[in-house]
Amino acid sequence: RKLPLDLSTEHGVRQVRSACFSKVQPTPVKNPRFVAVSGPALALLGLDAEDVLKDPLGPEYLSGSKVMAGSEPAAHCYCGHQFGQFAGQLGDGAACYLGEVKAPPDQNPELLHENPTGRWEIQVKGAGLTPYSRQADGRKVLRSSIREFLCSEAVFALGVPTTRAGSVVTSDSRVMRDIAYDGNPRMERCSIVLRISPSFIRFGSFEIFKRADEVTGRQGPSYGQDEIRTQMLDYVIETFYPEIHQSHSDIRERNTAFFREVTVRTARLVAQWQCVGFCHGVLNTDNMSILGLTLDYGPFGFMDRFDPDFICNASDNSGRYTYQAQPSICHWNLARLAEALDPDLPPELAKQVLDEYLPLYNAFYLNNMRKKLGLLKKKEPEDETLITEFMQTMHNTGADFTNTFRSLSQISCPIQEEGEEDECEANKQATELLLQQCASIDELKGANRPTMDPRELSMLLSMAQSNPALFQMVSNRRTLVQQLEKLSRLKELMDTNEEQLRTKQAEDWTRWIKKYRQRLARECEPGVDVKALQEERVCVMNNTNPRVVLRNYIAQNAIEAAENGDFSEVQRVLKVLEKPFSVQEGLEQPNWVGRGGVDIPG
Ligand code: AMP
Ligand code: MG
Ligand code: MG
Repeated sequence: RKLPLDLSTEHGVRQVRSACFSKVQPTPVKNPRFVAVSGPALALLGLDAEDVLKDPLGPEYLSGSKVMAGSEPAAHCYCGHQFGQFAGQLGDGAACYLGEVKAPPDQNPELLHENPTGRWEIQVKGAGLTPYSRQADGRKVLRSSIREFLCSEAVFALGVPTTRAGSVVTSDSRVMRDIAYDGNPRMERCSIVLRISPSFIRFGSFEIFKRADEVTGRQGPSYGQDEIRTQMLDYVIETFYPEIHQSHSDIRERNTAFFREVTVRTARLVAQWQCVGFCHGVLNTDNMSILGLTLDYGPFGFMDRFDPDFICNASDNSGRYTYQAQPSICHWNLARLAEALDPDLPPELAKQVLDEYLPLYNAFYLNNMRKKLGLLKKKEPEDETLITEFMQTMHNTGADFTNTFRSLSQISCPIQEEGEEDECEANKQATELLLQQCASIDELKGANRPTMDPRELSMLLSMAQSNPALFQMVSNRRTLVQQLEKLSRLKELMDTNEEQLRTKQAEDWTRWIKKYRQRLARECEPGVDVKALQEERVCVMNNTNPRVVLRNYIAQNAIEAAENGDFSEVQRVLKVLEKPFSVQEGLEQPNWVGRGGVDIPG
């Protein structure tokens, strides 16, 4: 060996025991510059976006290339269950804690509502190696950083709890990435997101203290450090759940109340995701926020055409994290958190709370959905069926999730003296409206084309049919079932022409619309001012059903422009997504609110 020695291997796989944080310096990047900043997110820190953009050192500071005064950068050590298996120590491999910033005194109290600390933690994501980087490089590239930046802010604007993103900085430092669309590795620009949240503590932050796992035999690297776990639990409750801390003198009761609140927040969060067609994609326990926030934007996806089996993560082979699996997966994750908190949280008390999850989730979901359908006056037990049938019809007709919900506000309450003819006309108009959001035959064929090679599929099938026990064991049998369902839908489509499909779609929608309008009629009981109710409905619905969401192709266009040096598209998309419920003349592109998008791989 010759000097200088390469000490970077020190950062390889390192088990860090008896510690939850490791001090680390962010690695500077070459020639950092802003791709975009979020005014509202920077305002949390008392920063003005214009000033930040003008500051020659702005990109240096917000990428961690220059460490700010008083900052003691650190990486957090945590564990996690990944895709159903306990994965041992993970930790912040690419993110670096910079410190906490006191909220300015004039901060909107609503923003501090779920942040009783009055401080915001800031992190740089993609700032280089940490002791937890394992085999990876601790860097993020333009693609991933723009996606996290735009989606954090978009999800916030939708009214869904989330961590925030203040800026995205790119640079002339490069790293090799092999997930290029053409399959060839290429050098990409190191790009860094400034993340902001009351805290980034996760379920996995408590799992480092775990006992040997019953399946893998692995245990958390800080196994047995019960006093640290208790210390962290106390810290989390005292700091982020002060009301719970103050109102319980019995520690077990306090801890149970805390776990109940995390359960409530998680159930509410997933219900909100489901209602905007958001799929997280990697709901591992290390990506579950202890504050009930959307955390870690990777392969997420907003759905175009509604498909309950939508998978946005290309490496999710078993379909564990489909859209419709999210509610039960979060319940499963809560159960892992409960295990990690034992004995501070006695299992029998945890179980009681876990049993409350599903009814809680259903209540949140139904409440949201009633608003989305504009059912404001009374709750009917049949509403659940009406909603289920709506979702089924969207699925059958290949309808666009966002736009179909948005167009519902154009279907009005029947006027009281509506005759049969009026009813027919109104149903016809509503059907026409919804048909605009349905897929064409070619789009449906495309959507139902199995992704598996037909030979593989038939091989798997014949093996599985000859041995049911084997079938049960095939790890990706859920996707196998999906593939078969697609195949049978495709077969039906082959025997259908465009006109027959339209007729079928119209029938499906008319059937649902009739029920919907009958339900709306029951909202307008005698004495109700129908005109006023109608106005209220439109207002509520148009503030619940967004016009625009961060569709994959919108993000992709912005990324491609940015990779070619044009950051204006990222900035424009951000502006539009900051107000997802209203029309923004001159900013939107017509196809952003059009039907469906082209599906882009990756
Ligand atoms: P994720 O699937 O994004 O939640 O990441 C899982 C784990 O991998 C976390 O511990 C991350 O910090 C780590 N990780 C993700 N990307 C990188 C990277 N580029 N370099 C180092 N560690 C990473
Ligand atoms: Mg993560
Ligand atoms: Mg990630």
